[in-house]
Amino acid sequence: MRRLLFVFVDGVGLGPAGPENPLAHGSRPAFRQLSGGAAWTRPLPTRQSAHRVVRSLDATLGVDGLPQSGTGQATLFTGVNCAERVGRHFGPFPHSATHAALDHRNLFQRVQALSPTSAPAAFANAFPPQFFEASSRRETVTTRCCTSADVSLRTLDALRARRAVAADLTARGWRETLQLDVAPRTPADAAEHLVATHRAHTLTLFEHFQTDKVGHRRIDLAPDVLLGRLDRFLGRLLTLLDPAHDTLLLTSDHGNLEDTRHTQHTRNPVPLFVYGWAAPYFTHARSLTDVTPAIATALEATARATPG
Ligand SMILES: [Zn+2]
Repeated sequence: MRRLLFVFVDGVGLGPAGPENPLAHGSRPAFRQLSGGAAWTRPLPTRQSAHRVVRSLDATLGVDGLPQSGTGQATLFTGVNCAERVGRHFGPFPHSATHAALDHRNLFQRVQALSPTSAPAAFANAFPPQFFEASSRRETVTTRCCTSADVSLRTLDALRARRAVAADLTARGWRETLQLDVAPRTPADAAEHLVATHRAHTLTLFEHFQTDKVGHRRIDLAPDVLLGRLDRFLGRLLTLLDPAHDTLLLTSDHGNLEDTRHTQHTRNPVPLFVYGWAAPYFTHARSLTDVTPAIATALEATARATPG
């Protein structure tokens, strides 16, 4: 069966090219490869071919105000317009009005329904002991999706054994902030570890949220440095994936990093990049609501084509 790797990057929108937009500057060959040669700015030229889709997605969901991660991610991972359901943008944690969608209609569950006997879905991020030890663990949108779908959360041991990936790619935060003994790894190493998990599952999700943190200036890291790491990570992924069997999908929940004049989210559209066999299923995607239905349809079609 064919596989899909979903790389979710938090807080990356498509803004106009200008001095305030770090995505408009610098040489990032993997970014260009993924976008079919275009800069990650607005307007992004739409492209579609047998193995590639490049589109802008609306992240405002028809609701006033600044998009937030709680409702944006819940929409992205369920296909339900969760901002509309709540009546406003809400985040970063999931709003109670979105719990039913997250607990019963999430992407992992949709994929599991195709092949209930094995473990078709994986969440590749590692979580530190502090997350598991917290007396009242605060579920994010993604951890809530995992809990309700019985997708295991990967641990420090898995990270050390290279069976999981640190959200920051290098595990620097694990060493310096959390004071944990984890060997350094390069963004290219992280890509290799992620592909190993991807090869064992129909759907693998990886969540990178430093992009949003840098946009909020909550971590002391220059946008160019972070984008360089992300480019090396994506570059290695692209060399490891075979578009006949693999699909790499990258998108975001809302804008932020693309406008360094302030530290807030934006109402800009977000990019959708699809590279691989599933690309034709995304040609009609216009909004965050369209991502999970297209993934489910693509994987259903490939499950029917290769039963068992
Ligand atoms: Zn944010």
